Amino acid sequence: MFKAQHSGQTHLFIPGPTNVPEAVRQAMNVAQQDMRAADFGQLTLPLFEGLKKVFKTMGGEVMLFPGSGTSAWEAAITNTLNPGDKVLMARYGQFSTLWVKMAEMLGLEPIVVDVPWGAGVPWKEFGRILGRDKDDEIKAVFVTHNETATGVVSDIEAVRRVMDECFHEALLFVDGVSSIGSMDFRMDQWGVDLAVTGSQKGLMMPAGLGILGVSQKALEASKTATMRRAYYDFADMRAFNKDGYFPYTPPTPLLHGLRAALGLIEAEGLEAVFARHARLAEGVRRGVKAWGLDTVAEHHSLYSNTVTAVRVPEGVDAREVLRIAYEELNASFGSGLSRLAGKVFRIGHLGSFNEGMTLTALSLAELALVKAGARVPLGAGVAAASNWFAHGAAAPGVMAVAAE
Ligand SMILES: *Cc1c(COP(=O)(O)O)cnc(C)c1O
Repeated sequence: MFKAQHSGQTHLFIPGPTNVPEAVRQAMNVAQQDMRAADFGQLTLPLFEGLKKVFKTMGGEVMLFPGSGTSAWEAAITNTLNPGDKVLMARYGQFSTLWVKMAEMLGLEPIVVDVPWGAGVPWKEFGRILGRDKDDEIKAVFVTHNETATGVVSDIEAVRRVMDECFHEALLFVDGVSSIGSMDFRMDQWGVDLAVTGSQKGLMMPAGLGILGVSQKALEASKTATMRRAYYDFADMRAFNKDGYFPYTPPTPLLHGLRAALGLIEAEGLEAVFARHARLAEGVRRGVKAWGLDTVAEHHSLYSNTVTAVRVPEGVDAREVLRIAYEELNASFGSGLSRLAGKVFRIGHLGSFNEGMTLTALSLAELALVKAGARVPLGAGVAAASNWFAHGAAAPGVMAVAAE
């Protein structure tokens, strides 16, 4: 479908791919180069070190696979597990659901805990299940750190704690595709064995790199794991990576982009990047509250700082809100996925994002909501977020702007 002609900026407020900073885009505009040249490692070796800082790992290694985040999921599984292995997983949104599906397709035997979409990882239930598993039959625990479908962040530290409390030996797999680089992630401290991300979310790049943090324990497991793998084999990758090369043709423009993106993160400061995401996300949530709408996240402790899933009022179709935003306002928001279709739209506020973009997202969202028939007080969301940005709190009275 073609959009009507628009002038001016096209607005991308989806939780990935995210907006690519101009410096990163320029950095990718390079001539093709010799990937076997003696000095190729000068480009690549610092990328591994830079990513280790973002993953917060000293002991682990980082690998870059051509592919998207999903390819890194597959690499993590096939390199460290065996066909028929029992693994512990939970479903609380579309991405955690898809990970279960992949585990089944690859021949694992997932023990699945289903919780409502809007809840986080059921770590207490995980603790009970792991505690009963006296013979360590469960080989891995999988957690989606930030469930992009629901805007829910889960407590990885709590999962690690319940694993440690029963001295469980399982590997800990964490999907950090929409958190790593935007929200605090502590691979070593949380004892994460396989940390998965992709290039097109917090790292502010186009899709094309599946990025994996691998602990020493996971590397050890990879030496005996019997699942079939070829393209995504760790051993091949490590043998070449140690000198900065790849076992096959790497997407060199993306590597240049990654260098620029890591440079931006380092210049701003990783903790400052997290603080910015927290500040902008709080602005979005205050805006949503001022509309009188709810988030999908069930509790404030579960609020994601990279994506907010907003429930539209009864009688309004979220698909219509998205259509109007796209066709009439030149703005893309994330759709409600799977069982949330029609009920929810999502605002992505991660990566290269700032106050101006946050306020634009809120103003266009409320416009689309009203055009789609929602009784939302125009300007209320923007005012609430502006007050938060200006004063660190909403000024009294601002929230009271009456619905028409
Ligand atoms: C985007 C996303 C994925 C999928 O990554 P792709 O890069 O699209 O393969 C997986 N998990 C989460 C949490 C995501 O946000």
